[in-house]
Amino acid sequence: MKTDKKLFIETYGCQMNFSDSEIVASILSENDFSTVDEASSADLILINTCSVRDKAEQRVWKRLKELRAMKKKNPNLKIGVIGCMAERLKDQLFETEAVVDLVAGPDAYRDLPSLIDAITSGQRAANIQLSIEETYEDVEPVRYDSNGISAFISIMRGCENFCSYCVVPFTRGKERSRNPETILNEAERLFNEGYREITLLGQNVNSYHWEQDGDSMDFPRLLASVAEINPLLRVRFTTSHPKDLSDKLIETISLHPNICRSIHLAVQSGSTSVLEQMNRKYTREWYMNRISAIKALLPDCAISTDIIAGFCGETDKDHQQTLSLMEWVPFDYAFMFKYSVRSGTIAEKKFTDDVPEAVKAERLKEIISLQQKLSLRSNKKDIGKVFEVLVEGVSKKSVHSMMGRNSQNKVVVFESSTSKPGEYTLVKITSCTPATLIGEHVN
Ligand code: SF4
Repeated sequence: MKTDKKLFIETYGCQMNFSDSEIVASILSENDFSTVDEASSADLILINTCSVRDKAEQRVWKRLKELRAMKKKNPNLKIGVIGCMAERLKDQLFETEAVVDLVAGPDAYRDLPSLIDAITSGQRAANIQLSIEETYEDVEPVRYDSNGISAFISIMRGCENFCSYCVVPFTRGKERSRNPETILNEAERLFNEGYREITLLGQNVNSYHWEQDGDSMDFPRLLASVAEINPLLRVRFTTSHPKDLSDKLIETISLHPNICRSIHLAVQSGSTSVLEQMNRKYTREWYMNRISAIKALLPDCAISTDIIAGFCGETDKDHQQTLSLMEWVPFDYAFMFKYSVRSGTIAEKKFTDDVPEAVKAERLKEIISLQQKLSLRSNKKDIGKVFEVLVEGVSKKSVHSMMGRNSQNKVVVFESSTSKPGEYTLVKITSCTPATLIGEHVN
């Protein structure tokens, strides 16, 4: 007999995780689960976790404690932890949190229906087996939390770069690329359903490489093929590793106006010796060379980055080099963090976390304050320009304003009574904040 069971998925961490939650929703929809918006009305709550930063893990531990009360009220409620934390901390999750019924790692989502069968009969169940092949390429994600305009397509899984601070190669396993035909079919389907922006996702998208029976596909070709589905489809990609940002990729972007002029290129540090310690496989000079290559062919391209303050062995001179590189680029925006040691990583095993907490905090403060200046400067340069904006909906700040993004991925808020979500519209920028461009609709 078919029953309709209610599933609530709570997602922490990066876009890869949000994309994985859509895959999980799809797998479970085949097993009579439909997603709900409220945890309180669910039969099964899955917490999709991230282990990249300690803060993300701490939020999950706190959330599990909160769920104890919910489970007390409803003893039939089942709770599962999935994703990177499940992979890393299966035993600890079962030992310290009685509310956890199920644990599944990122490559075990196809096994969720049988794990759920097991917990329904009162057992606890886990699968944290990593795979060298799983890409979920045949699973059509359920876009359960979507605006109907922008969607993510996961094109590869895993990572083999082993940056010394990072836990991902241990929680998500070996790098695998998905069959391009399935990616193109998914993109085409989304476009036909009315989506107008697709972000190709992977831990390191620009090392995408697929091969089968003498056929092969690299990332620039894949990107071009997605862009060629329709000129009205915007294409983005994230995240790229500087070592794999080829001239061919930059050229491909320049040849396709609908591949967005926005590249996220995580630098992490401006000092070659820190980059070496991080095992990033490029130098300050190499990174600068890539930025120059982008600027030469894509002069209007926004460049964003990730920066870690206070990695093991970082001196004040290294920190100054990060600041000077930020100015040199200059970045349009950045995600900035203090280094915190992650257990199981190369850095934990090999290095001493020797930058005092107060120094890390001070360096991060300087980095954030510089970035705010750079972001404001970048946005001020846009005043007077006219951008094509893909309208996403009504602005959160005022019901009389609409919001959308330009090709550079900047948020644009503008007054308009005629623009509709999913449409492209021209907006002239009249003012700005460090985070938002403000403008008016032009015909
Ligand atoms: S490229 Fe480095 S930082 Fe990114 S997921 Fe792989 S190991 Fe982690």
